[in-house]
Amino acid sequence: MKVLVVNAGSSSIKYQVMDMTNESVLAVGLVDRVGIPGSTLEHKPLGKDEVVIKKDLPDHTAGMELVLEVLVNPEYGCIASMDEIGAVGHRVVHGGEAFAESVVIDDHVKKVIRDCFDMAPLHNPPNLMGIEACQRLMPNVKHVAVFDTAFHQTMEAPHYMYAIPYEAYEKYGIRRYGFHGTSHFYVAHQAAEMLGKPYEECKIITLHLGNGASMAAIKDGKVIETSMGFTPLEGLVMGTRSGDIDPAIVFTLMDKYGMDSQEANNYFNKKAGMLGLSGVSNDLRDVLEAAASGNERAQIALDVYYKNIKGYIGKYVAYLNGCDCIIFTAGVGENAIDVRSNICKDMDALGIIMDEEKNNVRGKKVDVATPESQVRIFIIPTNEELVIARDTYRLSN
Ligand code: ADP
Repeated sequence: MKVLVVNAGSSSIKYQVMDMTNESVLAVGLVDRVGIPGSTLEHKPLGKDEVVIKKDLPDHTAGMELVLEVLVNPEYGCIASMDEIGAVGHRVVHGGEAFAESVVIDDHVKKVIRDCFDMAPLHNPPNLMGIEACQRLMPNVKHVAVFDTAFHQTMEAPHYMYAIPYEAYEKYGIRRYGFHGTSHFYVAHQAAEMLGKPYEECKIITLHLGNGASMAAIKDGKVIETSMGFTPLEGLVMGTRSGDIDPAIVFTLMDKYGMDSQEANNYFNKKAGMLGLSGVSNDLRDVLEAAASGNERAQIALDVYYKNIKGYIGKYVAYLNGCDCIIFTAGVGENAIDVRSNICKDMDALGIIMDEEKNNVRGKKVDVATPESQVRIFIIPTNEELVIARDTYRLSN
C-alpha cells in the first residue's frame, strides 16, 4: 500500500509518497506561496529529475489538486493512478489534551483540531484546510491525523503545570503541551536499538535542534518533560524565537514599544532568537561564520544558545536520575559539528564525554562518545514523515 503524507502550512504544502511494502520514498514535493501570486510546485520523483511548475493556486484545494495531477503524470509522476494511494497521513500541530496518539479523522477529530485554533493559530487552521482539501479530493480513503503534541501527553502534572492561578488551566487549557513529538519519538526509538536495550528501560534526552528547537527527557518509554510549552516559543533559543525569558520582559517591552499582543507575539516569535541577538541571521550557519570572523554579537548569541541547552541537559539528567544517551537531531543537531562539540564541552561531571574525531561527521547515525563516557552521544537523522506514514498505514488497516 502507498501512503501520501501531507504537511499543510499557512502558505505551503509539503508532501511525500511512501510505498509501505518497503518504506521507500517514491516522491517528495513542496507547494509554495499557496494563496499568494506566484505559487510554485517543486516535485522530486525517485530516480528522476526535479520538476518545477509555476501556476497560481488560490487556496489549499487548488494546491492539492495540482499535487494529485503531478503524482499521476505519465512523465514525472510516481503512481499510475490515485487508486494506488491507500491512505493519507496529515501532520497536525496541536491536539490539545484530547489525543495521546494518532487517530483516523472524523467529524469529532476535526472539531478538536478546530477547538485548538486559539492555541496554535499559525498551524492548526492551515492543517485543517489541508485535511479538508484532501478529503474533498480523496473521499474514499482514510485520513489520519498525527499530532506534534501527542507523544508528550505522558507528562504528569508537576511537569506540565505552570505556577499561575489554576483557573487558567481549567478555563483556557494553559499548560505545557510540547511539540516536535514525532521527531522525539522517532529518534528515541532508534536510540534504544543503538543502546541494545528495550525502549521501556531507557533514560533518553533528545535534542531536536532545527530552526525551531526542543528537547525531551524520556524515561521508561514516557516523556517526562519537554522544553516547548504552551506554545513552541518556550525553551531553547531558536532561529527567531526567544525561548525562555522573564515574562516581565514581555509586558515591559509592550509598554516601551507600544505593542499590542499580536505585535508582541510577532516580536518574540519572529524577531528574537539567534536573529535578534546576533543581528546576523536566523540560520545558524551564518551566525557561526560571522562569529568565526570576529563578530562579537554573533559569538554572544552562540554562547547563549549553548548555555541554554547545557542547562536543559543538566535539568533533564536530574529529572531522569541518570541518562543512557543524549541524541542530536534535525538540521543543526545532525550537521553542526562545532555546535555539538560546544554543547558537550566540560560535561564530564555528568558522564558526557565526546570523541571530537568521531564527532566530525554530518547527517549520519553514529555514536560520538568516547568508550569511557557513561552517556552515549548519538547523532540520529530524524524522519518525521516516516512516523506519520507508519501510523497512517497501521490505522488504515
Ligand atoms: P526546521 O524544520 O525547523 O525548519 P531544520 O531541521 O531543517 O529546521 O533545520 C534547519 C536549520 O539547520 C537551518 O536554519 C540551519 O541553521 C541549520 N543547519 C543546517 N546545516 C547546518 C550546518 N552544517 N551547520 C550549522 N547549521 C546548520
